Amino acid sequence: MPKDFTASLVACLGDPVRENPTGVMQEAAFRALGLNWRYLTIEVPAPKLRDALIGLRALGIAGANLTIPHKVTVLKYLDEITHDAALIGAVNTIRREGDRLIGENTDGKGFLRGLKVDAGIDPHGVRTLVLGAGGAARAIVTELALAGAADILVVNRSIDRGRHMAEELSRKTKTRIRFESWQGIYKVPADLDLLVNATSIGLYPDVGNIPALDLDDVSPKMLVTDAVPNPPETALLRRAAALGLPVLDGLSMLVHQGVIGFRMWTGQDAPESVMKKALLDAFMPDAFMPEAAPASSR
Ligand code: NDP
Repeated sequence: MPKDFTASLVACLGDPVRENPTGVMQEAAFRALGLNWRYLTIEVPAPKLRDALIGLRALGIAGANLTIPHKVTVLKYLDEITHDAALIGAVNTIRREGDRLIGENTDGKGFLRGLKVDAGIDPHGVRTLVLGAGGAARAIVTELALAGAADILVVNRSIDRGRHMAEELSRKTKTRIRFESWQGIYKVPADLDLLVNATSIGLYPDVGNIPALDLDDVSPKMLVTDAVPNPPETALLRRAAALGLPVLDGLSMLVHQGVIGFRMWTGQDAPESVMKKALLDAFMPDAFMPEAAPASSR
């Protein structure tokens, strides 16, 4: 059989994108499975996105990831958008079907897969509080709603943004999604199964920051999860664990969205533990700091 030296290509487009660790994770997975695939992390300024996609089409890319500031703009350059990516209003992953580029959003799917695989939780029927109303929160709330979560409470600092997201997704998914504003310390209700921090509070380098929450009355079974992937052990998760609550880190969501993308592109099962180790190695060694201080609510 003649040898084939051509590589398959996946690209991550963003600006800034230098510190995005996804390539390290995907390249480790390609190597572990002996695939002749490459994952290139490429800085593409916003005005160049259209040209970049024309170039990627010409190169016959197998797929791509999009990050800031392209997740919304890219919608208009794709041939198809999946139902949940359209609900979320953003695409973080592109896969190819023949010559067609299909826009997906794997952030919320990665979160749900992490819930099932790493915490053994089926989202159907869970009562959830989601902190935040940005891109990550929107993806998580959408997928929880589509997966049959019983009741979702969105708590956000900016009232208009949070209320608008809750009302829109409630209408479009037919799941009960309520909104409460977050000023000062927010008292977490007692009857919840799941709390998700989908804000950027605690993200490296602000690792001492912690969401201003009163956790005094929560159920001892409530799972506390953080979307913040770096550091994996955030100040919030340390506090929750100290209270005896079960916790799940943001590395889980990041690894599982990568696992889903890997399967979409290569058609193969991803080596999850290899990907997780590659990410941990890529994160800054000084990311962990023991002191925790409440984040200002404004
Ligand atoms: P956005 O900028 O879109 O949203 C940020 C959210 O955080 C907003 O709701 C904002 O509130 C809130 N927020 C920020 N600072 C504060 C504060 N001091 N007090 C109260 N609320 C605050 O960011 P993303 O949604 O894209 O990302 C959020 C987090 O999710 C990041 O840490 C990111 O790293 C993580 N993430 C993790 C992924 C993973 O795979 N693990 C994937 C994607 C994101 P307001 O509306 O009032 O400004």
